[in-house]
Amino acid sequence: MIFQRTLKKPICITGVGVHSGQKVTLTLLPARANAGVVFKRTDLKNAPKISAHYKNIINTQLATTLGRGKITVGTVEHVLAALQGLGIDNASLELNGPEVPILDGSSQGFCEAILASGVETQAQPRTYLALRRKVELHIGDKWAMVEPSSRLEIHASVQWDHPSIGQQEFHYIEGKTPFSELSSARTFGFLKELEALKKLGLARGGSLSNVIVLDHQTVLNPEGLRFADEFVRHKALDALGDLKLAGVPIQGRFFFHRAGHEIHRQLLLEVFKNPDNFEIFDPSHERRPLELPMPLTQPGFAVSY
Ligand SMILES: [Zn+2]
Repeated sequence: MIFQRTLKKPICITGVGVHSGQKVTLTLLPARANAGVVFKRTDLKNAPKISAHYKNIINTQLATTLGRGKITVGTVEHVLAALQGLGIDNASLELNGPEVPILDGSSQGFCEAILASGVETQAQPRTYLALRRKVELHIGDKWAMVEPSSRLEIHASVQWDHPSIGQQEFHYIEGKTPFSELSSARTFGFLKELEALKKLGLARGGSLSNVIVLDHQTVLNPEGLRFADEFVRHKALDALGDLKLAGVPIQGRFFFHRAGHEIHRQLLLEVFKNPDNFEIFDPSHERRPLELPMPLTQPGFAVSY
C-alpha cells in the first residue's frame, strides 16, 4: 500500500507567464489527504479555486489552460509534471495572476521548490486507477494509446523533418526512470511560429531563456541543448503533467506519437467515457467498514470524528 503525500511547508516561486508575459508568484502549499491538486487565484475577488482536473480544461493550444466561468489558470502542465514526477498527491497552488510562471521552460524550478519544501507522507493510502483494456485514438498523423500495466509508463515519440530533431523516442517508467531524465527538458518552438505568436499578442514572455528556439536549420539558444533528444523528453514531461489531470494516479502504459495537450485531453476523455475501461482501487474504502463507528443508539449521545 502506498500512502498519499503532500508538501512539508509553503514555498514561493516568482517568474513570468510565457503567454501573458505577466510577472506572477506561485505559492505551493501542503493540502489535506484526498484534496488533490487545487489552484487558487489569489488576485481575484474571493480567491476562487479550480481543481487540476481534465474536466476543467478549456484550452489546449500552446499550453494546457484550466477554466471555470471567468477564472482561468494557464500553462499548468510543467508544475503538474513536477508534482506527478515527485509523487505529490495533494497540494494547494496559489497564484496571483492568470498563468503559472514558465521559469526555464521545464519542470526543474518546480522540482527544486518541492524538494526544498520537503515531502510529507500522509496517513491515508493512495487511490489509483488501473486500465482494464486498451484505449486508443488517432487524429491525422498523431496517435495515442494506453494499455494495462502495473505502473505508469509513458512512451513518447516525435518525428520532425528538421536537422536538430528528426525521429526521437523516450520511455519513462515510474519508479525506474529517474525523474531528472526529463524534468529539466525545456519546451521548444520554431522562430517563425514564435514571431507570428508575438504579433498575435501570444508568447509575450517567450525568450531564449525559457524556450528552445529553432530556425529552419539549428537551435538558436547559445547554450545548446541539455540532452540530444531534449524535444521528445519534453513531450514525455508534458504528457506526465497532463495525465495528472486525471485526478487520480493512473497505472497504464501510454504511447504518444507526435502528440500534444489536445491529444492527452482526448485520450483521458476516451478512457473515462466507458467505466469498463478501468477500475479504481481505493485501499481506504476497502478498510472503511471496519473503521465505521458503532451506530448511534443512545439519544443525546454525540460523537465527533
Ligand atoms: Zn511543455
